[in-house]
Amino acid sequence: MEREIPVEIVYKDKRNSSGRIREGRIVLYISSRLSKAEQARHVHLLTRRLLNQRRKLDQLAFLPLPEESSVVPGRTDEDLARIAARLDRRYWRFGDVSIKFRKQESRWGSCNPASRRIHISHRLKDAPLQLLEYVVAHELCHLQIPNHGAAFWRLLSRAFPEHRRLRALLHAYGLWRNLSDGSVKS
Ligand SMILES: [Zn+2]
Repeated sequence: MEREIPVEIVYKDKRNSSGRIREGRIVLYISSRLSKAEQARHVHLLTRRLLNQRRKLDQLAFLPLPEESSVVPGRTDEDLARIAARLDRRYWRFGDVSIKFRKQESRWGSCNPASRRIHISHRLKDAPLQLLEYVVAHELCHLQIPNHGAAFWRLLSRAFPEHRRLRALLHAYGLWRNLSDGSVKS
């Protein structure tokens, strides 16, 4: 049985409607310029979308997530190089690679096999270590195999046999990050 979440509706004089989960409640900001029927549609759509996100986020329950209010010292490029070297020594031995954090919102990581450069999203600086390690391992494996075919996942499985679960967790973590400082547009 799904736990009931209280929904609070605030009408605002703006074009878009948005919503977020705050302290266990769904708060919806619905455009007052719409017809009653359109407003009802927005309420339905946003509530469903937020509940869906909530379900995915429940997977994160056991991960040590940084508190919204606490200041987490972000990891540095040196930390990143250490993590990559440790993983590579243990599982593959691809050799030297340049790996750095870069401000990127849309991807967790990227790899250029020709120049042997890997970039990791700054959003992972304070993420649970396990998620950062997964993304680093994933990009390292792209040094050898650029696509996501079966051979790629076999290579990655040496370090992360449970890569499916980690991808789901990473997705949920992305949602969690957005929920903590964003909103959903209808
Ligand atoms: Zn990839």
